[in-house]
Amino acid sequence: MKPSVVVVGSLNQDIVVQVEELPREGETLMGIGMSESPGGKGANQGVAIGKLQACVSMIGKVGSDPHAASLMKSLQQAGVDTRYIMTSNRPTGLAFVTVDRAGSNHIVVIPGANHELTPEDIDSQRQAIEKCEIVVLQLEIPLKTVEYTLRLAKELGKTTVLNPAPAQMLCDEILRFVDFLIPNEHELQSMSGMTITDASTLQAAARVYLSKGVRALIVTLGGKGCCYIDHERVQTYPARKVKAQDTTAAGDSFIGGFVAGYLKYHDVDLAIELAQKAAAITVTRHGAQSSLPTWEEVAAFDL
Ligand code: ADP
Repeated sequence: MKPSVVVVGSLNQDIVVQVEELPREGETLMGIGMSESPGGKGANQGVAIGKLQACVSMIGKVGSDPHAASLMKSLQQAGVDTRYIMTSNRPTGLAFVTVDRAGSNHIVVIPGANHELTPEDIDSQRQAIEKCEIVVLQLEIPLKTVEYTLRLAKELGKTTVLNPAPAQMLCDEILRFVDFLIPNEHELQSMSGMTITDASTLQAAARVYLSKGVRALIVTLGGKGCCYIDHERVQTYPARKVKAQDTTAAGDSFIGGFVAGYLKYHDVDLAIELAQKAAAITVTRHGAQSSLPTWEEVAAFDL
């Protein structure tokens, strides 16, 4: 059987409204454009992995509405196996994004069906987890489902990757089931409650998680690259030099690249190299899932 990945996470339809300037409190504005596109951290990471030609399926929940159909189509076009995505009575998750000319935004997420994904649902799709090698999670589904999935995955001997976004305080019970914890530096700061100002404060925050049983952390640092920390070594990897246009989905692209690379090479350095190349390509393009690169594009990228 081909080694594979399961992403357990959110699917949201993004509804994006463009404005000249973000509205002030109580203000009504005329927008200058609007678009819809598939999103949600879980679905984005699934698409990122699928586009890199890794064998990937997704466990999640959508409503029975047209948004669900468009999300499923986007996953399938990227080669993601959607048979483990269930349907809820609640509507498909929605993210309302208001973005101004300078790229600043306000985002309101209505989780809808994503918040209906229960531990029982994970059990009902257990065969997907049994068959795979790596399980990937984020925090846009209920925390008790994240915890249950991580525990099950470790019981079954799987490698687990947790992208703690949006950031929340995590109990020790969750952390001991995490192999790779991949936050950005803002998430690490808010989840740890520690102020991160430089390499040593970043490492101090990361070590708190190592002491709680996480195997390794990779902290993404935007245009500065990323930092890998485990019990034996700390290594900083500079970002690829590109002209960033839109950093939407940079983190999801990084996770997708890391997971696809780790599945292929079982080597952290090679997986980080793939992650940084994929994320660098993503920031040179506009959009979320549409900006995620294919395997051919990453292979041809030599900056
Ligand atoms: P998030 O999107 O979650 O906030 P980051 O901003 O830390 O995540 O970006 C994730 C990764 O994307 C970085 O580790 C880096 O590899 C890549 N990246 C982000 N911004 C740039 C940039 N300006 N130039 C090159 N690579 C970038």
